[in-house]
Amino acid sequence: MAFKPRIESLELLILRILNTRMELTEEERRNYFNLEKGYQGEVQFDFLTEKLQSNCHILNDLLIESNNKDFQIDSTLIFQEPLYVFEVKYYQGNFIFKPDRLETLSGKIYQNPLDQLKRTKTLLRQLLQNLGYNIPIEGYVVFNNPDFFLYQAPLNEPIIYAPQLKTFMKKLNRKQSKLSIHHNKLAEKLVSLHKVVSPYSKLRAYSFEELRKGLTCSACHSFNVSLCGGKLVCYDCGCEEKIDAAVLRSVDEIKLLFPEMKITTNVVREWCVVIKSQKMIKRILKENYKVMGKKKYTYYV
Ligand SMILES: [Zn+2]
Repeated sequence: MAFKPRIESLELLILRILNTRMELTEEERRNYFNLEKGYQGEVQFDFLTEKLQSNCHILNDLLIESNNKDFQIDSTLIFQEPLYVFEVKYYQGNFIFKPDRLETLSGKIYQNPLDQLKRTKTLLRQLLQNLGYNIPIEGYVVFNNPDFFLYQAPLNEPIIYAPQLKTFMKKLNRKQSKLSIHHNKLAEKLVSLHKVVSPYSKLRAYSFEELRKGLTCSACHSFNVSLCGGKLVCYDCGCEEKIDAAVLRSVDEIKLLFPEMKITTNVVREWCVVIKSQKMIKRILKENYKVMGKKKYTYYV
């Protein structure tokens, strides 16, 4: 099991909800899909590292500051030696390698991930030195989308392509590694340094009023749902969910989108639309949250 599991970023969670409940601009939508895709690629890489039998600590997704500069590591594996860092790119399609960038065949330019990796390794090395660790660092860029092809790919760069992942993981699996308390402390230290950045200032302003209301399907996010015998049923994908779970999921959405908003029966009923019964919402909130205030000033935390 990962020493630090991966969770979806707040920005991704919020954009996922906004994408179903309002019209995003072209740029916002692109950013959202890139985040979804990136996350999907990282999770696929996690499936492989989770299967490792050798002795190592797995730290997924770190955002750390070193020398006043932030750097992000998609995946870190601490072996007795070395410490591996992976920059995971789930790019799809045909790309051309240029020394300073990657380009799609249609001319779209991407930052060269090898430069990113170099920067990460430098900043991490400085940080480890400052912390008194002298463990060697090895880094790789992982292109793990099977539908990715790189023209003019360099031969001697630390890149792992999808068809090479199996062999690479086998190599890691054969590694002799003994972890000491020293390695434990390093893993704990890196996790403690992980920064959670608030996404709210980065996102455009939105209001409760302007967002489309209604319960959505937990699987496909469709609004095409209705209540049927205590369950929320989706007409698009057939998914069923207990009504309590669906309401609590909606409360989570409201809290995520509007962290300052007080959760009241009225707010939740307006958000859920298909649930007409105030009593039912009140019961669910009462059973799952702490009741604050009285009568018409009641809210739930
Ligand atoms: Zn559905």
